Amino acid sequence: MSTPLGHLVIIGVGLIGGSAARALKKAGAVERVTGVGRSLANLEKAKQLGVVDAFATDIAKAVHDADTVLVSVPMGAYETVFSAMAESLPKKAVITDAGSTKQHAIDMAHKHLRNTGCFVPAHPIAGTEDSGVEASFTELFQGRLCILTPGDGTDADALAKIKALWTATGSRVECMSASEHDDLLAAVSHLPHIAAYALVNAVRKLGNGENDPFKFAAGGFRDFTRIASSSPAMWRDIALANKNSLLHKIDGLQEELSILREALEKADGGKLLDDFSKAKQARDDWLAKHGDSL
Ligand code: NAP
Repeated sequence: MSTPLGHLVIIGVGLIGGSAARALKKAGAVERVTGVGRSLANLEKAKQLGVVDAFATDIAKAVHDADTVLVSVPMGAYETVFSAMAESLPKKAVITDAGSTKQHAIDMAHKHLRNTGCFVPAHPIAGTEDSGVEASFTELFQGRLCILTPGDGTDADALAKIKALWTATGSRVECMSASEHDDLLAAVSHLPHIAAYALVNAVRKLGNGENDPFKFAAGGFRDFTRIASSSPAMWRDIALANKNSLLHKIDGLQEELSILREALEKADGGKLLDDFSKAKQARDDWLAKHGDSL
């Protein structure tokens, strides 16, 4: 192994896997990258773009001489991917992932891997609403947070290697528990997607043959609903994988909507102004504190 991460096998060469490959190659952190997926067209494109050096569709064969494995497939494909690689993973290999929910990733590792200590779950908090290798770019993770959720059984060397991997992509690495991660991300990432999909559907249903409400939508609607252009299948998988935390956050949002609805029904301008002002203050404070790293 002439580089710290040696032969990197990326299962799922889409936006996240492709961007990680690009960044790690640029940083000189990998010896070579093999991409794995189901669609030959996407893999051939990845090779053509120089994102991967080689590709394969057979997961078990692809990982047999891996030093490092990055799983960056939708959450709904974890069972298939972890079971397919389990038997042929070499003992030396360390594994990470990029999945948006962490307890599900850990459950799959525990169900299928013989050595779960070599799996270091990760979630890079970076992305766009686009999918596939052609949407990937080298700077995606630059200055962005990547959360690792190691457990008591995580091997210290594996953790150090995976910290190095995500740091080499340009990410700022932080560790927390999987449950804390899933609860926090349900609030600030998964709930906004549910809200964006729901808002677009609510407006869509107002339309009829003569009346197209979208014709009158402008920048505010576009900004609020940008993430409703994200992959529906990917977000279905994330919602299902983080069901309990997300249900709780949806209840919270419904409660806030009910409070605003009641204030509006009573024409209680004071209450509306107070709630809008508190929200504006919280958002302004967030941007002042964290806006540079977004
Ligand atoms: P993506 O662009 O759709 O890429 C996913 C890749 O996985 C595709 O290239 C797909 O290729 C491959 N794939 C799907 N099922 C597979 C299977 N059974 N076996 C092998 N490969 C398979 O998605 P992404 O945005 O990179 O997301 C990847 C992961 O990162 C997800 O878990 C997501 O939750 C997480 N994540 C996403 C974002 C974001 O903003 N997009 C941010 C942070 C984390 P084939 O169809 O050819 O198999």
